[in-house]
Amino acid sequence: MAGEPQDDCLFCKIVAGHVPATVVRETDTTVAFRDINPQAPTHVLVIPKAHYEDAAALAAGAPQLAADVLRETRAVADEEKLDSYRIVFNTGPGAGQTVWHAHAHVLGGRGLQWPPG
Ligand code: IMP
Repeated sequence: MAGEPQDDCLFCKIVAGHVPATVVRETDTTVAFRDINPQAPTHVLVIPKAHYEDAAALAAGAPQLAADVLRETRAVADEEKLDSYRIVFNTGPGAGQTVWHAHAHVLGGRGLQWPPG
């Protein structure tokens, strides 16, 4: 069920502390941790603690929680002293989504090209 922890979800396991992660920020509703395969000097993932399979499901099912995630991307950027950065929600396999728990990538610390690949 949307919002409930899923036994087979990697990011639910990180939220529960069952899989280690380099956590940089945590709030009542969100966790931010460093991506295990960084694509930029700063590459942090911000996730809701509750399980929603992608950004669309999160926005539709829990808009306040989606706002919490977005607010935390800004907090990460501030802590990392990024004046320019990119927030990415890969949504769907064709867009490169590989983990089915909504997450915002916060990327920065180098020049970023547009359009992305
Ligand atoms: P997606 O491809 O947009 O779904 O992003 C998933 C991200 O999770 C990728 O950038 C992976 O490198 C990252 N990732 C996968 N496993 C872990 C982990 O255990 N810790 C931190 N990041 C992870």
